[in-house]
Amino acid sequence: MAVDLLVLGGTVVTGRPDGRVLFEGAIAIADGAIAAVAPRREVEAQYAAPRTIDAEGMIVYPGLVDTHTHLYQTLLKGLGDDLPLMQWLDASTLPSIPHLTPHLCYVAAALGCIESLRSGCTTIFDYMVDHRDTEIYDAILQAFDDVGIQGVLGRGLRDRQTEAVQLNLPSFPDQLADCRRLLDRYGPERVWVTPGATWAMEEDSLRAARRLASDRGTRLSLHTDEVLFDSEESLRRFGQRTVPFLERIGFLGPDVLHAHCVQLSEEDCQILAQHGSCVSYNPVSNMYLGSGVPPIPRLLELGVTVGLGADGAASNNSQDMLEALKVGALLPKVAWRDPAIFTAADALRVATVGGAKALGRDDFGTLEPGKRADLFVFDPLHAKSVPVHDPVSTLVYSSGEVNVRTTIVGGRVVLDDRRIVGIDEDAILREAQSVALELSEIADTRRRVEARLTVAGS
Ligand SMILES: [Zn+2]
Repeated sequence: MAVDLLVLGGTVVTGRPDGRVLFEGAIAIADGAIAAVAPRREVEAQYAAPRTIDAEGMIVYPGLVDTHTHLYQTLLKGLGDDLPLMQWLDASTLPSIPHLTPHLCYVAAALGCIESLRSGCTTIFDYMVDHRDTEIYDAILQAFDDVGIQGVLGRGLRDRQTEAVQLNLPSFPDQLADCRRLLDRYGPERVWVTPGATWAMEEDSLRAARRLASDRGTRLSLHTDEVLFDSEESLRRFGQRTVPFLERIGFLGPDVLHAHCVQLSEEDCQILAQHGSCVSYNPVSNMYLGSGVPPIPRLLELGVTVGLGADGAASNNSQDMLEALKVGALLPKVAWRDPAIFTAADALRVATVGGAKALGRDDFGTLEPGKRADLFVFDPLHAKSVPVHDPVSTLVYSSGEVNVRTTIVGGRVVLDDRRIVGIDEDAILREAQSVALELSEIADTRRRVEARLTVAGS
C-alpha cells in the first residue's frame, strides 16, 4: 500500500493508556495521519513510501502539547527575574505590550515555535494579550504556519487596568469585534476567546466573552487563581473566590481551559471537576514567580483534564517542553514529600493526551492508527540519556533538546535531522536578538538588568 512517509525501526512509545511500547517498531503515515503502528517487518511488508526516516536505535514519542504560553514574551527573557507575579507584570510584560508590532510578534512567535519543535512539541496554545494593533494576531497565526507547528491562538480580552501601568486599551466592544473577525477568518479550532483573569475583567465582560464563545462554538481560557491575589480580589469585588464566582456567572464548562490554578481550595477543585474543566499545569513558571504548587495530583484524582504548559518565556525563561516535563514531574514529589504522587508516566500523559484533551481534541496525543501524525524521533545516544532502561523515564528525566532529531507535525517533517525546514532559523534568531534589545530600550525594561550587571568597559 502506498503511503507518504515511513518511520522505520527503533522503539515506539505509543502513549496509549495501556502503556504499550514497541521495540523494533515502525509507523506508516498517509494524508497527515497515522496509517499503522506495528512491528517493523509488518510495516515494511505492507507499505511503501517515497520517503523513509531511519529510526534504528532511536525512540519515537507522541508530540508534546504546550497548553499555555505567551509567545511574544520570548523577547523578554531575563527582564523580570526574581519578582512576584504582580510586580513582574509591571516590570517586564506590561511596559512592553504597547510597543509590540506585527513584525515583533511574528519574530517572537517564530522563535518560540522553533524552540518548541526542537523540544518535541507539536501543538501550542498561545494566549496573546489584547492590543490595539489587531494585525499582531494574524502575524502569530502566520508564524505557526511558516514554522509548521499546530498552533491555537487565544485572543486576549481585558477591560480593567493595574494602577502601576496603564495600557491604551481598545474598547471592550472593539476587542470582541476583533475576536469575531479572527473567528470568521481562521475558525473556532484555531482561535479562542480568552479573558486575561477575573481581576482584569468586569463581570459583564466575562459574561459577554462566555456568550461569544458559546455562540461561535469556540473555547475559552483564562488565568485562574495563579496567585493569592486572584481570589482575594474576587472576594473583594464579587464576594466570592474566583472559581465559585465563575460558576455563579455561568462561565465554567468543559470548554474552559484554566491556566495555573495554583491557589485552588478543595472546594474550588471539586467545582472545577463538576464542570468537566480543563487545567494547564505550568510548573516552571509557577516556580520562577514563586507562585506556589498547584494541586495537580488532586485535580487528576477528581477527573479534571490536565495539560502541561511552558508558559511565556518572560517567566520560564524558555519554551523548552522537555524541561517543563521534568520539572513538572518533580514538583509534586517535593510538595507532597511523596515520590510516587506523580510519576514519569503521569507527566508524559499530561504532556500528550492530557494536553490534546485540554484543547478539546481527541485526534492527537497518542501514536495509534487514525490519529494525526504528530511525533518526534529522539536520539538517545547522548551522555545525559545513556543507558536507556525505560524510554518513558529517559524522556522525562534524562533528556534535552539535543536528543530531538526529527519532529513531524500532521505528517509533515518540520524539524528534519535537526534542521528547521519551514523558515530561516538563523535569520529569526538574529532578528529576535536585535528587536528584543530595541524593545527593551523603548519600553525601558532594562533598568533592573543594568542595576545587577557590571559591564566591562562601562
Ligand atoms: Zn499566562
